[in-house]
Amino acid sequence: DKFGIQDALKRLGVQQENQGTSTGTQWLDSKEAYISSYSPADGKLIGKVQVTDRDSYELVIKKATEAFMTWRTTPAPHRGEIVRQVGDALRAHKEDLGKLVSYEMGKSYQEGLGEVQEMIDICDFAVGLSRQLYGLTMHSERPSHRMYEQWHPLGIVGIISAFNFPVAVWSWNSMIALVCGDVCVWKPSEKSPLSAIACQQIVSKVLQNNNLPEGILSLINGDYKVGEMMSKDKRVPLVSATGSTRMGKIVTQEVAGRLGRSLLELGGNNAIIITEHADLDIAIRGALFGAVGTAGQRCTTTRRLIVQGSVYEEVKMRLTNAYSKLVIGNPLDEKNHVGPLIDKDAVKMYSAAIESAQKEGGKVLVEGGVLEGEGYESGCYVKPCIIEAENHYKMVQEETFAPILYLMKYEMLEDAIAMQNGVPQGLSSAIMTMNMREAEAFLSAAGSDCGIANVNIGTSGAEIGGAFGGEKETGGGRESGSDSWKAYMRRQTNTINYSTALPLAQGIKFDI
Ligand code: NAD
Repeated sequence: DKFGIQDALKRLGVQQENQGTSTGTQWLDSKEAYISSYSPADGKLIGKVQVTDRDSYELVIKKATEAFMTWRTTPAPHRGEIVRQVGDALRAHKEDLGKLVSYEMGKSYQEGLGEVQEMIDICDFAVGLSRQLYGLTMHSERPSHRMYEQWHPLGIVGIISAFNFPVAVWSWNSMIALVCGDVCVWKPSEKSPLSAIACQQIVSKVLQNNNLPEGILSLINGDYKVGEMMSKDKRVPLVSATGSTRMGKIVTQEVAGRLGRSLLELGGNNAIIITEHADLDIAIRGALFGAVGTAGQRCTTTRRLIVQGSVYEEVKMRLTNAYSKLVIGNPLDEKNHVGPLIDKDAVKMYSAAIESAQKEGGKVLVEGGVLEGEGYESGCYVKPCIIEAENHYKMVQEETFAPILYLMKYEMLEDAIAMQNGVPQGLSSAIMTMNMREAEAFLSAAGSDCGIANVNIGTSGAEIGGAFGGEKETGGGRESGSDSWKAYMRRQTNTINYSTALPLAQGIKFDI
Protein backbone atom coordinates (compact mmCIF):
# COMPACT_ATOMS: atom_id res chain seq x y z
CA ASP A 1 0.00 0.00 0.00
CA LYS A 2 2.63 2.44 -1.20
CA PHE A 3 0.15 5.26 -1.68
CA GLY A 4 -1.59 4.97 1.70
CA ILE A 5 -4.99 3.94 0.38
CA GLN A 6 -5.97 1.87 3.42
CA ASP A 7 -5.27 4.75 5.79
CA ALA A 8 -7.23 7.12 3.59
CA LEU A 9 -10.19 4.72 3.51
CA LYS A 10 -10.07 4.47 7.29
CA ARG A 11 -9.96 8.23 7.80
CA LEU A 12 -12.84 8.62 5.35
CA GLY A 13 -14.92 6.07 7.28
CA VAL A 14 -15.28 3.70 4.34
CA GLN A 15 -15.89 0.19 5.66
CA GLN A 16 -16.06 -3.16 3.97
CA GLU A 17 -19.68 -3.96 4.69
CA ASN A 18 -23.14 -2.69 5.52
CA GLN A 19 -22.64 0.52 3.60
CA GLY A 20 -24.64 1.26 0.47
CA THR A 21 -27.91 2.90 1.42
CA SER A 22 -28.08 5.89 3.71
CA THR A 23 -30.69 8.45 4.73
CA GLY A 24 -28.02 10.85 5.93
CA THR A 25 -26.20 9.62 9.00
CA GLN A 26 -27.67 6.12 9.19
CA TRP A 27 -26.85 3.14 7.00
CA LEU A 28 -29.82 0.95 6.12
CA ASP A 29 -29.85 -2.81 5.72
CA SER A 30 -30.58 -4.30 2.35
CA LYS A 31 -31.16 -7.83 1.16
CA GLU A 32 -29.30 -7.22 -2.09
CA ALA A 33 -25.83 -8.43 -3.00
CA TYR A 34 -22.65 -6.35 -2.94
CA ILE A 35 -20.89 -4.53 -5.78
CA SER A 36 -17.14 -5.05 -5.76
CA SER A 37 -15.06 -2.05 -6.64
CA TYR A 38 -11.71 -2.82 -8.27
CA SER A 39 -9.06 -0.23 -8.94
CA PRO A 40 -8.17 0.17 -12.61
CA ALA A 41 -4.75 1.35 -11.38
CA ASP A 42 -3.60 -2.04 -10.06
CA GLY A 43 -6.61 -4.33 -10.52
CA LYS A 44 -7.00 -4.89 -6.78
CA LEU A 45 -10.27 -5.10 -4.91
CA ILE A 46 -10.74 -1.85 -2.96
CA GLY A 47 -13.96 -2.70 -1.20
CA LYS A 48 -17.60 -3.64 -1.49
CA VAL A 49 -20.81 -1.66 -1.45
CA GLN A 50 -24.25 -3.06 -0.78
CA VAL A 51 -26.90 -2.62 -3.48
CA THR A 52 -30.11 -0.86 -2.42
CA ASP A 53 -33.23 -3.04 -2.35
CA ARG A 54 -36.84 -1.96 -2.78
CA ASP A 55 -37.58 -1.75 0.95
CA SER A 56 -34.59 0.42 1.78
CA TYR A 57 -35.34 2.59 -1.27
CA GLU A 58 -38.87 3.12 0.07
CA LEU A 59 -37.47 4.14 3.43
CA VAL A 60 -35.08 6.60 1.76
CA ILE A 61 -37.96 8.22 -0.14
CA LYS A 62 -40.12 8.30 2.99
CA LYS A 63 -37.40 10.03 5.01
CA ALA A 64 -36.64 12.42 2.15
CA THR A 65 -40.32 13.35 1.81
CA GLU A 66 -40.53 14.05 5.55
CA ALA A 67 -37.29 16.02 5.62
CA PHE A 68 -38.47 18.20 2.75
CA MET A 69 -41.39 19.41 4.92
CA THR A 70 -39.00 21.20 7.27
CA TRP A 71 -36.08 21.87 4.90
CA ARG A 72 -38.24 23.81 2.41
CA THR A 73 -39.15 26.40 5.06
CA THR A 74 -35.68 26.65 6.60
CA PRO A 75 -34.42 30.11 5.54
CA ALA A 76 -32.19 29.78 2.49
CA PRO A 77 -29.18 31.49 4.17
CA HIS A 78 -29.45 28.90 6.99
CA ARG A 79 -29.39 26.17 4.38
CA GLY A 80 -26.36 27.94 2.94
CA GLU A 81 -24.67 27.72 6.33
CA ILE A 82 -24.98 23.90 6.20
CA VAL A 83 -23.44 23.90 2.74
CA ARG A 84 -20.63 26.11 4.04
CA GLN A 85 -19.88 23.47 6.65
CA VAL A 86 -19.91 20.75 3.98
CA GLY A 87 -17.32 22.82 2.11
CA ASP A 88 -15.15 22.94 5.22
CA ALA A 89 -15.52 19.20 5.79
CA LEU A 90 -14.42 18.63 2.19
CA ARG A 91 -11.41 20.89 2.74
CA ALA A 92 -10.42 18.74 5.71
CA HIS A 93 -10.68 15.55 3.62
CA LYS A 94 -9.37 16.89 0.32
CA GLU A 95 -6.23 14.73 0.12
CA ASP A 96 -7.92 11.49 1.24
CA LEU A 97 -10.94 11.89 -1.01
CA GLY A 98 -8.76 13.00 -3.95
CA LYS A 99 -6.64 9.91 -3.46
CA LEU A 100 -9.61 7.58 -3.32
CA VAL A 101 -11.11 9.14 -6.47
CA SER A 102 -7.78 8.71 -8.22
CA TYR A 103 -7.43 5.08 -7.10
CA GLU A 104 -11.01 4.04 -7.76
CA MET A 105 -11.59 5.91 -11.04
CA GLY A 106 -8.05 6.02 -12.42
CA LYS A 107 -7.60 9.76 -12.97
CA SER A 108 -4.31 11.30 -11.84
CA TYR A 109 -3.93 12.31 -8.19
CA GLN A 110 -3.70 15.95 -9.33
CA GLU A 111 -7.03 15.58 -11.10
CA GLY A 112 -8.48 13.78 -8.08
CA LEU A 113 -7.51 16.76 -5.93
CA GLY A 114 -8.90 19.07 -8.61
CA GLU A 115 -12.21 17.24 -8.48
CA VAL A 116 -12.48 17.75 -4.71
CA GLN A 117 -11.46 21.40 -5.15
CA GLU A 118 -14.33 21.74 -7.60
CA MET A 119 -16.67 20.43 -4.89
CA ILE A 120 -15.33 23.00 -2.45
CA ASP A 121 -15.75 25.74 -5.05
CA ILE A 122 -19.37 24.80 -5.73
CA CYS A 123 -20.06 24.89 -1.99
CA ASP A 124 -18.71 28.45 -1.83
CA PHE A 125 -20.78 29.38 -4.87
CA ALA A 126 -23.92 27.85 -3.34
CA VAL A 127 -23.38 29.69 -0.05
CA GLY A 128 -23.41 33.02 -1.91
CA LEU A 129 -26.41 31.90 -3.90
CA SER A 130 -28.33 31.15 -0.72
CA ARG A 131 -28.69 34.91 -0.19
CA GLN A 132 -29.80 35.47 -3.79
CA LEU A 133 -32.11 33.06 -5.69
CA TYR A 134 -33.62 36.19 -7.16
CA GLY A 135 -37.02 36.56 -8.76
CA LEU A 136 -38.14 39.50 -10.89
CA THR A 137 -40.69 42.22 -10.26
CA MET A 138 -42.90 43.18 -13.23
CA HIS A 139 -45.14 46.15 -13.81
CA SER A 140 -48.82 45.27 -13.71
CA GLU A 141 -51.15 46.70 -16.36
CA ARG A 142 -53.79 47.17 -13.63
CA PRO A 143 -53.72 50.16 -11.22
CA SER A 144 -52.61 49.48 -7.64
CA HIS A 145 -51.49 45.97 -8.49
CA ARG A 146 -48.12 44.42 -7.95
CA MET A 147 -46.72 41.49 -9.87
CA TYR A 148 -43.62 39.51 -9.12
CA GLU A 149 -42.21 36.01 -9.35
CA GLN A 150 -40.64 33.89 -6.69
CA TRP A 151 -38.81 30.59 -6.70
CA HIS A 152 -39.82 27.69 -4.47
CA PRO A 153 -38.09 24.36 -3.93
CA LEU A 154 -39.22 21.35 -5.95
CA GLY A 155 -38.90 18.46 -3.50
CA ILE A 156 -36.75 15.38 -3.96
CA VAL A 157 -33.98 15.74 -6.52
CA GLY A 158 -32.74 12.38 -7.83
CA ILE A 159 -29.10 12.48 -8.91
CA ILE A 160 -27.69 9.78 -11.20
CA SER A 161 -23.98 10.21 -11.87
CA ALA A 162 -21.28 8.76 -14.14
CA PHE A 163 -18.00 7.10 -13.15
CA ASN A 164 -15.66 9.68 -14.61
CA PHE A 165 -16.49 12.47 -12.16
CA PRO A 166 -17.49 10.19 -9.31
CA VAL A 167 -17.93 12.93 -6.71
CA ALA A 168 -17.95 16.41 -8.31
CA VAL A 169 -21.13 15.89 -10.34
CA TRP A 170 -23.00 14.98 -7.16
CA SER A 171 -21.83 18.20 -5.49
CA TRP A 172 -22.76 20.40 -8.46
CA ASN A 173 -26.28 19.09 -8.14
CA SER A 174 -26.72 18.54 -4.45
CA MET A 175 -25.08 21.67 -3.03
CA ILE A 176 -27.13 23.92 -5.33
CA ALA A 177 -30.29 21.87 -4.74
CA LEU A 178 -29.76 22.10 -0.97
CA VAL A 179 -29.65 25.89 -0.87
CA CYS A 180 -32.70 25.88 -3.14
CA GLY A 181 -34.55 23.97 -0.39
CA ASP A 182 -34.64 20.57 -2.07
CA VAL A 183 -33.58 17.26 -0.58
CA CYS A 184 -31.38 14.88 -2.59
CA VAL A 185 -31.12 11.17 -3.30
CA TRP A 186 -27.90 10.17 -5.06
CA LYS A 187 -27.29 7.07 -7.13
CA PRO A 188 -23.60 7.10 -8.04
CA SER A 189 -22.05 5.01 -10.80
CA GLU A 190 -21.70 1.32 -9.98
CA LYS A 191 -18.11 1.68 -11.23
CA SER A 192 -17.10 4.15 -8.51
CA PRO A 193 -19.34 3.49 -5.49
CA LEU A 194 -16.73 3.80 -2.73
CA SER A 195 -15.99 7.43 -3.52
CA ALA A 196 -19.71 8.04 -2.96
CA ILE A 197 -19.65 6.22 0.38
CA ALA A 198 -16.79 8.51 1.41
CA CYS A 199 -18.82 11.62 0.48
CA GLN A 200 -21.79 10.37 2.48
CA GLN A 201 -19.55 9.86 5.52
CA ILE A 202 -18.18 13.39 5.12
CA VAL A 203 -21.61 15.03 4.97
CA SER A 204 -23.07 12.80 7.70
CA LYS A 205 -20.90 14.54 10.29
CA VAL A 206 -22.20 17.93 9.22
CA LEU A 207 -25.80 16.69 9.34
CA GLN A 208 -25.19 15.24 12.79
CA ASN A 209 -23.44 18.32 14.19
CA ASN A 210 -26.43 20.42 13.17
CA ASN A 211 -29.07 17.98 14.43
CA LEU A 212 -30.65 17.84 11.03
CA PRO A 213 -33.28 15.19 10.30
CA GLU A 214 -32.54 12.11 8.21
CA GLY A 215 -33.56 12.42 4.56
CA ILE A 216 -31.84 15.65 3.47
CA LEU A 217 -28.93 13.98 1.69
CA SER A 218 -29.47 10.30 0.94
CA LEU A 219 -27.46 7.70 -0.93
CA ILE A 220 -28.59 4.64 -2.83
CA ASN A 221 -26.36 2.24 -4.76
CA GLY A 222 -26.57 -0.18 -7.63
CA ASP A 223 -26.69 -0.31 -11.40
CA TYR A 224 -29.31 1.00 -13.82
CA LYS A 225 -32.08 -0.90 -12.03
CA VAL A 226 -31.65 1.27 -8.95
CA GLY A 227 -31.48 4.38 -11.15
CA GLU A 228 -34.74 3.28 -12.70
CA MET A 229 -36.47 3.24 -9.32
CA MET A 230 -36.03 7.03 -9.31
CA SER A 231 -36.77 7.75 -12.97
CA LYS A 232 -40.09 5.86 -12.60
CA ASP A 233 -40.95 7.40 -9.23
CA LYS A 234 -43.57 10.19 -9.24
CA ARG A 235 -42.32 11.30 -5.84
CA VAL A 236 -39.08 12.47 -7.48
CA PRO A 237 -40.01 15.65 -9.42
CA LEU A 238 -36.54 16.17 -10.88
CA VAL A 239 -34.04 13.57 -12.04
CA SER A 240 -30.62 14.98 -12.88
CA ALA A 241 -28.75 12.36 -14.88
CA THR A 242 -25.15 12.45 -16.03
CA GLY A 243 -23.82 9.74 -18.32
CA SER A 244 -24.06 8.35 -21.82
CA THR A 245 -26.56 9.55 -24.41
CA ARG A 246 -27.93 6.00 -24.46
CA MET A 247 -28.77 6.27 -20.76
CA GLY A 248 -30.13 9.82 -21.11
CA LYS A 249 -32.61 8.83 -23.81
CA ILE A 250 -34.03 6.10 -21.58
CA VAL A 251 -34.16 8.20 -18.41
CA THR A 252 -35.72 11.25 -20.04
CA GLN A 253 -38.50 9.12 -21.57
CA GLU A 254 -39.25 7.44 -18.26
CA VAL A 255 -39.38 10.77 -16.48
CA ALA A 256 -41.37 12.50 -19.23
CA GLY A 257 -43.86 9.62 -19.17
CA ARG A 258 -44.91 10.78 -15.72
CA LEU A 259 -44.45 14.47 -16.67
CA GLY A 260 -41.52 14.90 -14.32
CA ARG A 261 -38.48 16.97 -15.16
CA SER A 262 -35.10 15.69 -16.18
CA LEU A 263 -31.80 17.53 -16.34
CA LEU A 264 -29.41 15.76 -18.70
CA GLU A 265 -25.63 15.96 -18.95
CA LEU A 266 -24.68 13.43 -21.62
CA GLY A 267 -21.89 12.58 -24.02
CA GLY A 268 -19.74 15.00 -25.96
CA ASN A 269 -17.72 14.86 -29.16
CA ASN A 270 -15.61 17.93 -28.70
CA ALA A 271 -13.40 19.58 -31.28
CA ILE A 272 -10.68 22.20 -31.36
CA ILE A 273 -10.25 24.24 -34.52
CA ILE A 274 -6.66 25.33 -35.03
CA THR A 275 -6.48 28.14 -37.56
CA GLU A 276 -3.47 29.52 -39.42
CA HIS A 277 -3.55 32.41 -36.93
CA ALA A 278 -3.17 30.22 -33.86
CA ASP A 279 -0.46 30.55 -31.24
CA LEU A 280 0.74 27.01 -31.81
CA ASP A 281 2.41 26.66 -28.40
CA ILE A 282 -0.94 27.20 -26.75
CA ALA A 283 -2.81 25.17 -29.35
CA ILE A 284 -0.62 22.09 -28.93
CA ARG A 285 -0.71 22.23 -25.13
CA GLY A 286 -4.48 22.72 -25.12
CA ALA A 287 -5.02 19.86 -27.54
CA LEU A 288 -2.68 17.55 -25.65
CA PHE A 289 -4.29 17.98 -22.23
CA GLY A 290 -7.73 17.93 -23.82
CA ALA A 291 -7.09 14.65 -25.63
CA VAL A 292 -5.09 12.60 -23.13
CA GLY A 293 -6.06 14.10 -19.73
CA THR A 294 -8.10 11.64 -17.64
CA ALA A 295 -7.09 9.12 -20.36
CA GLY A 296 -9.71 10.62 -22.65
CA GLN A 297 -12.52 9.94 -20.17
CA ARG A 298 -13.93 13.41 -19.71
CA CYS A 299 -17.22 14.39 -21.26
CA THR A 300 -15.27 17.42 -22.53
CA THR A 301 -12.24 15.47 -23.80
CA THR A 302 -10.91 16.74 -27.13
CA ARG A 303 -11.82 14.03 -29.62
CA ARG A 304 -11.40 15.93 -32.90
CA LEU A 305 -8.77 18.36 -34.06
CA ILE A 306 -9.72 20.41 -37.12
CA VAL A 307 -6.58 22.03 -38.49
CA GLN A 308 -6.10 24.58 -41.26
CA GLY A 309 -4.12 23.24 -44.23
CA SER A 310 -1.19 25.65 -43.97
CA VAL A 311 -0.35 24.66 -40.37
CA TYR A 312 -1.50 21.05 -40.61
CA GLU A 313 1.94 19.48 -41.08
CA GLU A 314 3.48 21.47 -38.26
CA VAL A 315 0.64 20.61 -35.85
CA LYS A 316 0.97 16.96 -36.84
CA MET A 317 4.70 16.96 -36.20
CA ARG A 318 4.54 18.79 -32.87
CA LEU A 319 1.67 16.72 -31.59
CA THR A 320 3.33 13.43 -32.55
CA ASN A 321 6.43 14.61 -30.76
CA ALA A 322 4.46 15.55 -27.63
CA TYR A 323 2.67 12.17 -27.61
CA SER A 324 6.03 10.37 -27.74
CA LYS A 325 6.91 11.97 -24.38
CA LEU A 326 3.79 10.84 -22.53
CA VAL A 327 4.42 8.58 -19.55
CA ILE A 328 1.64 6.09 -18.90
CA GLY A 329 1.21 4.45 -15.52
CA ASN A 330 -0.26 4.43 -12.04
CA PRO A 331 -2.31 7.62 -11.62
CA LEU A 332 -1.20 8.02 -8.01
CA ASP A 333 2.40 8.30 -9.12
CA GLU A 334 2.79 11.97 -10.01
CA LYS A 335 5.45 11.39 -12.65
CA ASN A 336 2.87 9.73 -14.93
CA HIS A 337 0.78 11.76 -17.36
CA VAL A 338 -1.81 9.18 -18.37
CA GLY A 339 -3.58 6.65 -16.16
CA PRO A 340 -5.78 3.67 -16.99
CA LEU A 341 -9.24 3.35 -18.52
CA ILE A 342 -12.00 2.49 -16.06
CA ASP A 343 -12.23 -1.23 -16.87
CA LYS A 344 -11.55 -3.90 -19.45
CA ASP A 345 -14.83 -3.24 -21.26
CA ALA A 346 -13.61 0.29 -21.92
CA VAL A 347 -10.36 -1.16 -23.26
CA LYS A 348 -12.34 -3.36 -25.66
CA MET A 349 -14.31 -0.35 -26.92
CA TYR A 350 -11.08 1.58 -27.41
CA SER A 351 -9.53 -1.22 -29.48
CA ALA A 352 -12.71 -1.74 -31.50
CA ALA A 353 -12.95 1.99 -32.29
CA ILE A 354 -9.38 2.12 -33.60
CA GLU A 355 -10.00 -0.91 -35.75
CA SER A 356 -13.25 0.45 -37.10
CA ALA A 357 -11.76 3.89 -37.88
CA GLN A 358 -8.95 2.20 -39.80
CA LYS A 359 -11.43 0.09 -41.80
CA GLU A 360 -13.19 3.28 -42.83
CA GLY A 361 -9.92 4.67 -44.16
CA GLY A 362 -8.39 6.27 -41.07
CA LYS A 363 -4.61 6.51 -41.07
CA VAL A 364 -2.87 5.88 -37.77
CA LEU A 365 -0.44 8.65 -36.94
CA VAL A 366 0.38 7.73 -33.36
CA GLU A 367 -0.18 4.08 -32.72
CA GLY A 368 -2.46 2.89 -29.94
CA GLY A 369 -2.42 -0.43 -28.14
CA VAL A 370 -3.05 -2.09 -24.81
CA LEU A 371 -0.11 -2.09 -22.41
CA GLU A 372 1.12 -5.23 -20.69
CA GLY A 373 3.79 -6.11 -18.20
CA GLU A 374 4.94 -4.61 -14.94
CA GLY A 375 2.74 -1.84 -13.66
CA TYR A 376 0.05 -2.64 -16.21
CA GLU A 377 -1.34 -5.79 -14.55
CA SER A 378 -4.89 -4.41 -14.35
CA GLY A 379 -5.14 -4.65 -18.14
CA CYS A 380 -6.71 -1.19 -18.28
CA TYR A 381 -3.77 0.88 -19.57
CA VAL A 382 -3.83 1.95 -23.22
CA LYS A 383 -1.68 4.19 -25.38
CA PRO A 384 -3.20 7.50 -26.45
CA CYS A 385 -3.40 7.46 -30.23
CA ILE A 386 -3.96 9.84 -33.11
CA ILE A 387 -5.76 8.89 -36.31
CA GLU A 388 -6.07 11.01 -39.44
CA ALA A 389 -9.72 10.72 -40.30
CA GLU A 390 -12.74 12.31 -41.92
CA ASN A 391 -15.61 13.81 -40.04
CA HIS A 392 -18.26 11.54 -41.53
CA TYR A 393 -16.64 8.29 -40.33
CA LYS A 394 -18.97 6.36 -38.03
CA MET A 395 -16.33 6.30 -35.28
CA VAL A 396 -15.67 10.02 -35.58
CA GLN A 397 -19.38 10.69 -35.16
CA GLU A 398 -19.50 8.66 -31.94
CA GLU A 399 -18.03 9.29 -28.52
CA THR A 400 -15.51 6.59 -27.61
CA PHE A 401 -14.57 7.11 -23.97
CA ALA A 402 -10.80 6.68 -24.49
CA PRO A 403 -7.76 8.69 -25.64
CA ILE A 404 -8.31 8.54 -29.40
CA LEU A 405 -7.82 11.81 -31.23
CA TYR A 406 -9.04 12.27 -34.81
CA LEU A 407 -7.06 14.71 -36.89
CA MET A 408 -8.75 16.48 -39.79
CA LYS A 409 -7.82 19.17 -42.27
CA TYR A 410 -9.80 22.21 -43.50
CA GLU A 411 -9.23 25.16 -45.82
CA MET A 412 -12.00 27.71 -45.11
CA LEU A 413 -13.14 28.59 -41.57
CA GLU A 414 -16.78 28.09 -42.57
CA ASP A 415 -15.97 24.49 -43.41
CA ALA A 416 -14.18 24.03 -40.11
CA ILE A 417 -17.21 25.32 -38.21
CA ALA A 418 -19.49 23.06 -40.25
CA MET A 419 -17.27 20.09 -39.34
CA GLN A 420 -17.16 21.10 -35.70
CA ASN A 421 -20.98 21.25 -35.65
CA GLY A 422 -21.39 18.21 -37.86
CA VAL A 423 -21.77 15.60 -35.10
CA PRO A 424 -24.81 14.55 -33.04
CA GLN A 425 -23.38 15.89 -29.77
CA GLY A 426 -22.96 19.54 -28.70
CA LEU A 427 -21.02 19.86 -25.46
CA SER A 428 -17.68 21.67 -25.73
CA SER A 429 -15.73 23.36 -28.51
CA ALA A 430 -12.74 25.62 -28.98
CA ILE A 431 -10.93 27.74 -31.51
CA MET A 432 -7.24 28.52 -31.39
CA THR A 433 -6.63 31.84 -33.11
CA MET A 434 -5.14 35.27 -32.52
CA ASN A 435 -7.45 36.69 -35.16
CA MET A 436 -10.43 38.55 -33.79
CA ARG A 437 -12.63 38.01 -36.83
CA GLU A 438 -12.14 34.27 -36.65
CA ALA A 439 -12.77 34.15 -32.90
CA GLU A 440 -15.93 36.23 -33.11
CA ALA A 441 -17.25 34.24 -36.08
CA PHE A 442 -16.77 31.08 -34.05
CA LEU A 443 -18.68 32.55 -31.10
CA SER A 444 -21.48 34.06 -33.22
CA ALA A 445 -24.95 32.64 -33.76
CA ALA A 446 -23.60 31.08 -36.96
CA GLY A 447 -20.60 29.65 -35.11
CA SER A 448 -20.22 26.79 -32.66
CA ASP A 449 -23.49 25.07 -31.74
CA CYS A 450 -22.14 23.80 -28.41
CA GLY A 451 -23.02 24.69 -24.83
CA ILE A 452 -19.38 25.62 -24.27
CA ALA A 453 -17.27 27.54 -26.79
CA ASN A 454 -13.74 28.65 -25.87
CA VAL A 455 -11.07 30.80 -27.47
CA ASN A 456 -7.42 29.84 -26.93
CA ILE A 457 -8.38 27.32 -24.26
CA GLY A 458 -8.94 23.61 -24.85
CA THR A 459 -12.32 21.92 -24.62
CA SER A 460 -11.94 20.46 -21.13
CA GLY A 461 -11.49 21.92 -17.68
CA ALA A 462 -14.48 24.21 -17.17
CA GLU A 463 -14.84 26.47 -14.15
CA ILE A 464 -17.84 26.12 -11.84
CA GLY A 465 -18.95 29.76 -12.20
CA GLY A 466 -20.43 29.22 -15.66
CA ALA A 467 -23.41 27.09 -16.63
CA PHE A 468 -22.14 23.69 -17.70
CA GLY A 469 -23.79 21.48 -20.31
CA GLY A 470 -24.49 21.05 -23.98
CA GLU A 471 -26.95 20.85 -26.82
CA LYS A 472 -28.32 18.16 -29.13
CA GLU A 473 -27.50 14.64 -27.91
CA THR A 474 -25.64 16.10 -24.94
CA GLY A 475 -29.13 16.59 -23.54
CA GLY A 476 -29.63 20.36 -23.14
CA GLY A 477 -29.18 20.51 -19.35
CA ARG A 478 -27.16 23.16 -17.54
CA GLU A 479 -25.58 22.67 -14.13
CA SER A 480 -23.26 24.43 -11.75
CA GLY A 481 -22.89 28.22 -12.12
CA SER A 482 -24.78 31.15 -13.66
CA ASP A 483 -28.54 30.69 -13.15
CA SER A 484 -28.48 26.88 -13.38
CA TRP A 485 -30.08 26.85 -9.93
CA LYS A 486 -33.43 27.62 -11.57
CA ALA A 487 -33.65 23.99 -12.75
CA TYR A 488 -33.93 22.93 -9.10
CA MET A 489 -36.83 25.23 -8.27
CA ARG A 490 -40.37 25.95 -9.40
CA ARG A 491 -41.35 29.43 -10.47
CA GLN A 492 -44.44 31.07 -9.11
CA THR A 493 -45.99 34.25 -10.51
CA ASN A 494 -47.83 36.36 -7.95
CA THR A 495 -50.20 39.24 -8.60
CA ILE A 496 -51.40 41.29 -5.66
CA ASN A 497 -54.27 43.75 -5.76
CA TYR A 498 -54.10 46.56 -3.19
CA SER A 499 -56.83 48.69 -4.78
CA THR A 500 -60.52 48.92 -3.82
CA ALA A 501 -61.67 47.60 -7.20
CA LEU A 502 -61.24 44.36 -9.12
CA PRO A 503 -60.13 45.31 -12.64
CA LEU A 504 -59.66 42.35 -14.98
CA ALA A 505 -56.60 41.87 -17.15
CA GLN A 506 -56.86 42.80 -20.84
CA GLY A 507 -59.62 45.31 -19.87
CA ILE A 508 -62.32 42.63 -19.90
CA LYS A 509 -65.65 43.83 -18.52
CA PHE A 510 -67.72 41.46 -16.38
CA ASP A 511 -70.29 43.46 -14.43
CA ILE A 512 -73.52 42.22 -12.97
P1 NAD B 1 -23.47 5.42 -18.18
O1 NAD B 1 -24.52 6.04 -19.02
O2 NAD B 1 -23.09 4.04 -18.44
O3 NAD B 1 -23.91 5.49 -16.63
C1 NAD B 1 -24.18 6.71 -15.99
C2 NAD B 1 -25.13 6.47 -14.83
O4 NAD B 1 -26.42 6.16 -15.31
C3 NAD B 1 -24.74 5.32 -13.91
O5 NAD B 1 -24.98 5.69 -12.58
C4 NAD B 1 -25.68 4.22 -14.34
O6 NAD B 1 -25.93 3.26 -13.35
C5 NAD B 1 -26.91 5.00 -14.67
N1 NAD B 1 -27.84 4.36 -15.62
C6 NAD B 1 -27.53 3.69 -16.75
N2 NAD B 1 -28.66 3.29 -17.38
C7 NAD B 1 -29.70 3.73 -16.65
C8 NAD B 1 -31.12 3.64 -16.79
N3 NAD B 1 -31.67 3.01 -17.80
N4 NAD B 1 -31.88 4.21 -15.83
C9 NAD B 1 -31.33 4.87 -14.80
N5 NAD B 1 -30.00 4.98 -14.61
C10 NAD B 1 -29.18 4.42 -15.53
O7 NAD B 1 -22.21 6.40 -18.28
P2 NAD B 1 -20.71 6.20 -17.71
O8 NAD B 1 -20.00 5.18 -18.52
O9 NAD B 1 -20.73 6.06 -16.24
O10 NAD B 1 -20.09 7.65 -17.99
C11 NAD B 1 -19.57 8.06 -19.22
C12 NAD B 1 -20.53 8.93 -19.99
O11 NAD B 1 -20.97 10.03 -19.19
C13 NAD B 1 -19.91 9.56 -21.20
O12 NAD B 1 -20.82 9.50 -22.28
C14 NAD B 1 -19.67 11.01 -20.79
O13 NAD B 1 -19.57 11.93 -21.84
C15 NAD B 1 -20.84 11.25 -19.93
N6 NAD B 1 -20.64 12.37 -19.02
C16 NAD B 1 -21.23 13.56 -19.31
C17 NAD B 1 -21.02 14.65 -18.49
C18 NAD B 1 -21.66 15.98 -18.79
O14 NAD B 1 -21.67 16.81 -17.90
N7 NAD B 1 -22.20 16.22 -19.97
C19 NAD B 1 -20.18 14.55 -17.38
C20 NAD B 1 -19.59 13.32 -17.11
C21 NAD B 1 -19.83 12.24 -17.95
